[in-house]
Amino acid sequence: MKNNYTFIFILLAFQTAITAQNYKQRFNEIDVKHYNLTIEVNDTTNSIQAKMIVSLKFKQLVNEFQLDFVEKDSTGKGMSIESVFQNNDTVSYTHIDNKITIQPNFVNTDSLFNFEIKYNGVAKDGLIIGENLHGDRTFFADNWPNRAHNWFPCVDHPSDKATVEYIVKAPNHYQVIANGYLFEETNLSNNLNLSHYKTIVPLPTKVMVIGIARFSVQHIGETHNIPVSTWVYPQTKEQGFYDFTNSKNILNFFIEKFGEYPYQKLANVQSTTQFGGMENAGAIFYFEKIVTGAQNHEDTIAHEIVHQWFGNSASEIDWPHIWLSEGFANYFTSLYILETKGEGAFQQRIKEERETVLNFYKKKQTPVIDTENTNLMSLLNANSYEKGAWVLHMLRKKLGDETFWKGIRSYYEKFKLNNASTNDFKNVMAEVSGENLDTFFTQWLQKAGHPILKTSWLYNNNILRLIISQTQKTAFQFPLDVELIYTDGTSEIKTIEVTEIAIPFEIETKGEVKEIKFDPNTWLLFELVD
Ligand SMILES: [Zn+2]
Repeated sequence: MKNNYTFIFILLAFQTAITAQNYKQRFNEIDVKHYNLTIEVNDTTNSIQAKMIVSLKFKQLVNEFQLDFVEKDSTGKGMSIESVFQNNDTVSYTHIDNKITIQPNFVNTDSLFNFEIKYNGVAKDGLIIGENLHGDRTFFADNWPNRAHNWFPCVDHPSDKATVEYIVKAPNHYQVIANGYLFEETNLSNNLNLSHYKTIVPLPTKVMVIGIARFSVQHIGETHNIPVSTWVYPQTKEQGFYDFTNSKNILNFFIEKFGEYPYQKLANVQSTTQFGGMENAGAIFYFEKIVTGAQNHEDTIAHEIVHQWFGNSASEIDWPHIWLSEGFANYFTSLYILETKGEGAFQQRIKEERETVLNFYKKKQTPVIDTENTNLMSLLNANSYEKGAWVLHMLRKKLGDETFWKGIRSYYEKFKLNNASTNDFKNVMAEVSGENLDTFFTQWLQKAGHPILKTSWLYNNNILRLIISQTQKTAFQFPLDVELIYTDGTSEIKTIEVTEIAIPFEIETKGEVKEIKFDPNTWLLFELVD
């Protein structure tokens, strides 16, 4: 996702902390295979009427298990359960603390069990019903990170993926978009339409989505047999269609880089999402004001398209590893910019990102893999995005382009439609390159900070004496490019391996050095101090 920083602080208040413990326990008990959601919306109230059939397998014999589901409270918002069935029989359950606890009638570890939950209510969050910027009524899901269980019962964590289908009944002046392919459309009585979407591959709940609104829809063609479409508000459809024209080329670029696209379609959707962009699987939602008619959000489109592979298909196993989504989306967007706009535009982006990382560190000294942080919204920070991107940039330099890309493709192939930890990623890159990457991954991802260098140098008789002191708490190991600029106007770059807190180097030179520059080609995340 791309942050829309204006809204992010308002949101923090709504977030509930999650304990990793809870999810690990649940992961060992149940595995959701499929969600089948029938949902009816209307124009007179914000209340939904719904039926969810959760198909799951038990991994062990349990007396009870839990699904996340926000219950109705004194505000009048939240969901009220009407009935719960297990394979057509009634079953005991409770609905408290935003969990349904079900005591199944019968359990084994072989069969698939269907639990049918009928409910109604006004979603507290997650399914946003309101007016768009033109004053039209809209219904947009916005699940990240764990807001899906405001509007349907589920295991609301990226580690339990499932296929999903939605049978949406809505007034017939709306069009309906969702993940997957359109399986059925029917005109019902009472001016209602039924739209039935299905996915054929499992998704994490964070990127499950439906959108119901007045739309103009343009089908802009296919690439690698993937249909690409644009869904924008009718009032500004010319601008909107124009803004997303390039999305087919961007999709094509990344299919050729990463391998097969994981979903049945790519729809780019104007919406009321609180994020700048939200990478919902195969149906990306963008903030309303992305439509300008000036195509000035190409980087956001690229970022969300990268997520279809990294984040949606190969997903982080748990929230502390979110850089595997956001760092990847940022960095591969930069590589798209490098290929389409050239070295100058690329350098500018990564320099700005480096500045963002250095500034963030002045406020918050936490590692990228932040296991202490339970406020999920605050994981949308410069560590996850910009520093994560920089880690990939330095890894590309360390391994070389060919090995780096081979590793990225292997990692995706191994973890597509599944979950990975940072260690899983490291192990693939180590195997492909034949290098030990432990120090690299530990220092850049598990420790806070970066090299903060004090330098001094002295030239004498074709020898440059250079002292590099690391002033931060723990020593980093890294290659440092030093550009020697000679009095005759020529220059050359020497690379030194910095491994200690303070170390002197002697560099042979071709002539008299008048100036030196560190990291002239922007390959190192560091800062220089006087
Ligand atoms: Zn993102």
